[in-house]
Amino acid sequence: MARKLEYVWLDGYKPEPSLRSKTKVMTEDVTDVAGCPGWSFDGSSTQQAAGSSSDCLLKPVRFIEDPQRDDSALVMCEVLAADGSVHPTNSRGTFEDDPDFWFGFEQEYTLMEGALPLGFPKDGYPGPQGPYYCSVGINNCVGREIVEAHLDTCLAAGLGITGINAEVMKGQWEYQLLGEGKQAADDLWLSRYLLHRVAESFDVTVSLHPKPIKGDWNGSGCHTNFSNTAIREQGGEDMIKGICEKFRGQHASHIALYGSDNDQRLTGLHETQSIDTFSYGVSDRGASIRIPIGTVQAGWKGYLEDRRPASNMDPYKVVGRIITTVNG
Ligand code: MG
Repeated sequence: MARKLEYVWLDGYKPEPSLRSKTKVMTEDVTDVAGCPGWSFDGSSTQQAAGSSSDCLLKPVRFIEDPQRDDSALVMCEVLAADGSVHPTNSRGTFEDDPDFWFGFEQEYTLMEGALPLGFPKDGYPGPQGPYYCSVGINNCVGREIVEAHLDTCLAAGLGITGINAEVMKGQWEYQLLGEGKQAADDLWLSRYLLHRVAESFDVTVSLHPKPIKGDWNGSGCHTNFSNTAIREQGGEDMIKGICEKFRGQHASHIALYGSDNDQRLTGLHETQSIDTFSYGVSDRGASIRIPIGTVQAGWKGYLEDRRPASNMDPYKVVGRIITTVNG
């Protein structure tokens, strides 16, 4: 019954793109992505074109319900240049999809009131970290109503959210989202879109910065768990360690695409490995790649966790790099 289509795309801002959207009102019902016409926008207002030749095209690629609005849907789009070619800012259009891959993202973020995390006093800091992770009660847990509203909205939209939790820094939260191939990245972007929009109603903003507060405060990551059929069903110690070694060889090129300011987060402290070092290990939360104990106990079958991506990473780039590294 969708008659209001909210076309969502990524702009040309650096180092990370921002989400943009606008509404297309239809006279007939639209129920899937095939029913969504192409559209265009002013690329000179999004750092994607010069004013003298400003039209960029929107190519719909993913359609989900929009539970916050009557008769509405969200339509994730790729950006194309006016001649129909993949626009240089279009990170989704640059790699081959492989829906055999499953991705489980752990999206961390911080709710902000002005320049401060929600729950931080106007002058100074709250008590040190320790009591906030998975907490209950207003001394330690802030923003629950916002997080719950986002969860319900995502579930009603059909997004594969699999859990939420309060994180280690006060005002910091996480949700987990599961998906397949490129669509997993579409859905992470759409879940972020809904998070920003839900936050509007509560007069707070969402920071995806990997180190929102300097000092002895946890940063925010987007740990990316992944597998394909071979990892899930065949496995073996040699195969799993072989994949980790492929990642070692690509460490620098991965880090370059895993989010800006990630050096402030990947310090070797706060459950991270240093940004310049690559390591992997069973159950090791101080490693670049964690091999979960469950994977080992199942006979080295299951999934791997790439702990390097920052909370502000572009999931198209991370998904693309993981697929091409494993398959390469
Ligand atoms: Mg976490």
